[in-house]
Amino acid sequence: MATGIVAGRLAIVTGAGSGIGRAACQVLSREGATVIAADKNYNAAVETIKTHTALASGSNAVGDHSAIELDVSDSKSVQNLVQTVTSQYKAPPTIVVNSAGITRDNWILKMSEDDYNAVLNVNLKGTFLVMQAFSRIMTEAQVPGSIVNISSIVGKYGNLGQSNYAGSKAGVVAMSQSAAKELGKFNIRVNAILPGFIKTPIIETVPDKVIEKLIKMVPLGRIGEPIEVAELITFLGSDKSSFITGAAIDVSGGF
Ligand code: NAP
Repeated sequence: MATGIVAGRLAIVTGAGSGIGRAACQVLSREGATVIAADKNYNAAVETIKTHTALASGSNAVGDHSAIELDVSDSKSVQNLVQTVTSQYKAPPTIVVNSAGITRDNWILKMSEDDYNAVLNVNLKGTFLVMQAFSRIMTEAQVPGSIVNISSIVGKYGNLGQSNYAGSKAGVVAMSQSAAKELGKFNIRVNAILPGFIKTPIIETVPDKVIEKLIKMVPLGRIGEPIEVAELITFLGSDKSSFITGAAIDVSGGF
C-alpha cells in the first residue's frame, strides 16, 4: 500500500512529458498518487511514466500510472481524455495539474497574430478547458479535489518580448481565483503557482547573457529546479493544504 501525502489519489498532469510537469509526476508518485501523464508529445509522456515515476512498474490503490496524448488547446482532445480516464479508472482524478505551456516570443511591434493566438490557446484556453472538464466530473461524482494551475512570475511583472505569454499567465491567475470562488462550495480548491526561472527546455532559447542578468535579480542567486515547483504542486494537491484556495504562490527564489 502506497504511503505519502497524496497516497491513494488519482492525479492528472498536463505537459507531463517535460520540465515541471514531468517533475510533478515524479513527486506526486513518490508521495503515493497514481499519475496520468498527458502531453502533446505522447512518447515524452510515456518516458515520464517509464523512467521518472516512483512506481514505474507498480500499481497502488487506484491503478497503474498511464500516459496519454493530449492537446490542451483542442476541446475534442480534452473530451477524449476525460472519456479515456473515466473508463480506465472508473473515478475522476482528484488532483489536476495544468502545466502544459508554450512561448512564442517577439517584440510587440513585430508579434504575429498567429504567435499571439498560439500562446493564448495553449496557456490560457488550454488551462480553462482542462479545468472545466475535470471540475465537471468531480462535481458530478461529488468528490473533493484540488486543481493547480501553472502561471508565471512574468504574469505579475511582464517581460520583454513576452506580451502574449505574460498576458496568458496573468489570465491564468485571475481565472484560477475566479474558479476558486465558484468551486469552493463543491470542496474543489483551485490555486495558481508562479514559477520564476526554472531549468527546463522552455528557457533554452533565452540567451546566456540574459540568464546571467536575470540571476542577478534573484535573491537566492540561482535558477530553480523543476522539482522545487513540483514539491509545492504536490503540497497543494494534498490535504496538507486543505484551507488554501484562490492563492497565487511565487516559486522564484525571491525574484
Ligand atoms: P517544458 O519543459 O517546455 O514543458 C512543457 C510541456 O508542455 C512540453 O512537454 C510540451 O510539449 C507540452 N505542451 C506544449 N503544448 C501542449 C499542448 N497544446 N497540449 C499538451 N501539452 C503541450 O516547459 P516547463 O518549463 O516545464 O513549463 C511548464 C509550465 O511552467 C508552463 O506552463 C510554463 O509556462 C510554466 N513556467 C515555466 C517557467 C520556467 O522557467 N521553466 C517559468 C514560469 C512558468 P512539446 O515539448 O511537444 O511542446
